Parts: sequence; structure tokens; C-alpha cells
Amino acid sequence: MIRGTWYPKGSANRKKASLIVNDSKKFSIMSEEGEIELVAGDFLGLAVSDRVGNIMRRLTLPDQSIFETLDNNAVDACLKTHIHPANSRSLFFQLESSHRMLFLSFIVIIALGISLKWSVPWASGLIAESIPQKVREHISRESLIVMDAAIFKESETSVVIQKKIKNHFENEVLPTLSGDTLKGSAFTLHFRKLSRSTAGTEKQIDIANAFAFPSGDIIVTDELIRVANNQQEIDVILYHEIAHVLHNHGLKQVIKSTLVTTIFLMLTDGASFVEDILLGFPVFFIQSHYSKIYETEADKFAFELMLKNNINPTVFSDMLSKISIEKKKEAVQVDEQNENYFSTHPATSKRLKMAKKYAEQFSKQRQP
Ligand SMILES: [Zn+2]
Repeated sequence: MIRGTWYPKGSANRKKASLIVNDSKKFSIMSEEGEIELVAGDFLGLAVSDRVGNIMRRLTLPDQSIFETLDNNAVDACLKTHIHPANSRSLFFQLESSHRMLFLSFIVIIALGISLKWSVPWASGLIAESIPQKVREHISRESLIVMDAAIFKESETSVVIQKKIKNHFENEVLPTLSGDTLKGSAFTLHFRKLSRSTAGTEKQIDIANAFAFPSGDIIVTDELIRVANNQQEIDVILYHEIAHVLHNHGLKQVIKSTLVTTIFLMLTDGASFVEDILLGFPVFFIQSHYSKIYETEADKFAFELMLKNNINPTVFSDMLSKISIEKKKEAVQVDEQNENYFSTHPATSKRLKMAKKYAEQFSKQRQP
């Protein structure tokens, strides 16, 4: 029995009534007060409105009178029990609409993914480029303070050697960069000792690495200088680091990850974008993982400079291999996530192949 209201055709005389359907699929509308049968007929012949949420359901009876009820669940159960055509229609409608929702959500997710994939790097590039040198210097200074406290120690490289490398950098390396590529960046070399304790022992392992800050400040570790046999081997690493600065790789990478986090955080709370960038830098430099695209870009830039300055590109691959051997010696003790130049700048076969290509160009260029 389904309770509702009956509206006779062409009359405002509505009545509280109930719908009853028996096993032989005959229905009757009974008035509630007097138990009078108001209308009766074949249940399967009734026109039943589609269910829309919990809105009043309307059944149009054979004499064109109307029975309305809010008991949607009872109507659906009744349609199902007596296999009323409206049942399959409502099922079909539900199925179709849920499929439609699924498909729509799928499209929305794909579109969001695609637009984020393209728009986030693009926006990160724009933001990175628009950050003025003063802000870059601020970010870099703050990051260096954190890194000095967290991972760096004072350099043990002799002052004489430091001075020699610095002079060479300022008088030989920097002048080979053309003014417009510099875009206001002021490159300065700094020296630090970077070591890492090995798991379970007191032993410290020195790490060969270089870090490029967005301001143009470049940190070179003692171990990197130690494994280099000559000035050229340091130069090629510096070219590569200069490229990271000039192409805004560090800024782009931190902004990119900050943007993605911020987009998702914005839905819950208002995270400060600028604060996140500032916080992100020391973390980025300590973990220092440039994307492969940035590494390739920096390598290319370095190779071009090597050709221009008459340095054989094999110096670069030799340096990478040398640090790689260093790393293998330490690999037993040092875990994979360490701050070795080679682990943050992995010498993939692709990189070595590119070095070989440039080396061929170099030998061609030297032939008269
Ligand atoms: Zn790199």
C-alpha cells in the first residue's frame, strides 16, 4: 500500500488515498476515510513519471485522474515487483545517467591532467623568468643559510687554490659568456666541504657536488676539486651549473612543484605560495634532483661552451665517469639518495652519447 493524494480530473476535490496493487497486477486507489474504491484498472497500463531525486511521483490513471506520492522507494519497488515498463525505463535512465556522470568525470579528469601538464610548466617558466635578481639573491641567501646549518661545512681547500679557481672563473670562464645570455645574473663561486656519515659507522665520506643558486651563486665542494685533475675538469662542471642558472632550472623546478601543491592546497586552505617557494629551495638543493630535460639542456649549453672555448667535450664525460668510479667505491656504504654529483647528475648513456657527438664535432672543428 502506497499513501498519497488523489486528484480527480477537472475537480479541486483532492483526497488522501492509497494505491494498492494485487498479484494479478490490478490496481485500485482507495480513499483513506471511507475505504471507497476511487479508481481501478490494470497496473501495467498506468503512466508513471520518472524518478527525479525525491520529487513527488505522479501516476496518471485510466480516467485521467492523478495519484501523487512522495514514497518514491515504494513506487520503485512496486514497479519492479510487477515488472512495469517504467521499471526498465527508470533503470535504463539511472544507468545512462550514471554512465554519463562517469564519462563526464573521466573527461574532466583527463582535461584537468592535460591542462596541468602543459599549463604548470608554462606558468612556472613565466613566473621564474619574472622573478627579479633582488628576489633571487634573497632566496639564495636564505637557502645557503639553511644549507650551511644543515649539510655544509667550512671548506678545507687552501685559500691559494680557492683564489686561483675563483680568478680563473672570473677572468677566463665568465667573459666567454655573452652579455645577453647573462641577463643580469651575477655569478660568484663559493667553496664548501660536504660530507656524509656512513650508515652505522663514524666514518665520513666526502661528496663531490656543485650547487647552482638562482642568484648565480655556485657552490663547489672540496671533493669535486680534489677529483678534478685540472682546471678544465672544473670548468666543464661550472659551465653545466651556469646553464642551470641561466635557464632558471632551479626556480622552475621548485615553482612547478609548489604550483601543483598550491593548486591542490587552495581547495582546502590558503597556502602561501611565496613562503612555499622559500621553504622549497633548501629542500630542493639538498635533494637536488633536476628533471632530465633540464639536465640535457644544461649539458647542451656546457658542450656548446666547450666547443667555443676549445675544450674537448670528452673532458666532461671523463669527469662524470671519474665521479662515477668514486661513487662506486662508496656505493656499499652510501645509500642511493646521497648528494653525490653523480647521483644528482646521473651519467645516463644518453648523456655520454651526446658528449661523444660533441667530441666528434670538436675534432672536426680542430682539423684545418
Ligand atoms: Zn645538472
